[in-house]
Amino acid sequence: MKIETIAIHAGNKTDEATGAVIQPITLSTTFERATDGSFPAGYIYGRAANPNRSQLENVLAKLEGGIDAAAFSSGNAAGMAVFQSLKPGTHIILPDDMYHGLRNQLKNLFAGILEFDFIDIDNNDLLQKHIKPNTGLIWIETPSNPLLKVTDIKKVILTAKAHNIKVACDNTFATPVLQQPLALGADIVMHSSTKYFGGHSDLTGGALVTPVKDEWWTKIRQVQEQGGAIPSPMDCYYLARSIKTLPYRVAGHVKNAQLLAEWLQKQPSVEKVLYPGLPDHPGHAIAKQQMKGFGGMLSVCFKGGETEAKKVVNSLKIFTQATSLGGVESLIEHRASVEGPDTKTPLNLLRISVGLEHIDDLIADMEQAMR
Ligand SMILES: *Cc1c(COP(=O)(O)O)cnc(C)c1O
Repeated sequence: MKIETIAIHAGNKTDEATGAVIQPITLSTTFERATDGSFPAGYIYGRAANPNRSQLENVLAKLEGGIDAAAFSSGNAAGMAVFQSLKPGTHIILPDDMYHGLRNQLKNLFAGILEFDFIDIDNNDLLQKHIKPNTGLIWIETPSNPLLKVTDIKKVILTAKAHNIKVACDNTFATPVLQQPLALGADIVMHSSTKYFGGHSDLTGGALVTPVKDEWWTKIRQVQEQGGAIPSPMDCYYLARSIKTLPYRVAGHVKNAQLLAEWLQKQPSVEKVLYPGLPDHPGHAIAKQQMKGFGGMLSVCFKGGETEAKKVVNSLKIFTQATSLGGVESLIEHRASVEGPDTKTPLNLLRISVGLEHIDDLIADMEQAMR
């Protein structure tokens, strides 16, 4: 089945008891046992599993071409489950440009428990140099946040496999509509469902998807169930509902982002536009190989520095100045000030989550703000 069909059907189960076409929301935290002590429907307790969560996990697994998925209460909880599943003392290699919330999580919560290096992962010599006997995981994020760097997934996996190292890929920016890391050999895919999966900036969630039910996956399931960072049945329901339109929303985001990037690039006050869909982007060729589209995220740097960037952000009327991404509405933010004092993000950079408004209105808004 194609992804449009999977998105609609794998996330829903017609209710046998009532005939309801849309699967009802099961709020019950506990499930009745039969006289022999068994659980006829397989559900025991809400933290362990819930029918809406099972349905969500089913569609997530199928979208990524995996065999199982685990849903979490946030993207960071999903990332944390990966880190917690590793043996203490494991060394992880991560990109120097990645979601700052997960970088902070490692630095603040895993210091002394895990070892980690943040490097330019696309530099293969550097990557090889950082591999140690206790390296157990390479983490990638492509396109990256907020510099839109593109990592050659296959190339990193080739290096990792040669050393028996697992590869996890944060696929939040691309979504499975545009990029399927498991098909390229990744061992696990991570998502912030808060972003494109949710799509309407109204819920927080995360997910992990696996191509095999191995020992590592069992451990991750333990972290999910025993750690307890699970999403509510309501959130699972809303997520499964939003995912039905994911492929069409993503197509719209991609189309608008490309047009906005091309327009921005022509403006005299713009120093550069970071968008993998532009032919002069350093990751364009690789993105073209491993992605079906270049995504809905872009960053733009202004010649007038931080002052100019902040002037633009404060003059926009349709773009909302807010963090996060992947919703139907366009969001823009001065990224460095969100990331805090230790940020490496350029001060003249604005990150844009291009929404699904009409592109003419978005461009007109940008034009008046840049005047
Ligand atoms: C938002 C985000 C996360 C973290 O997800 P939360 O749902 O905010 O916890 C991780 N990775 C990327 C790329 C993100 O954009």
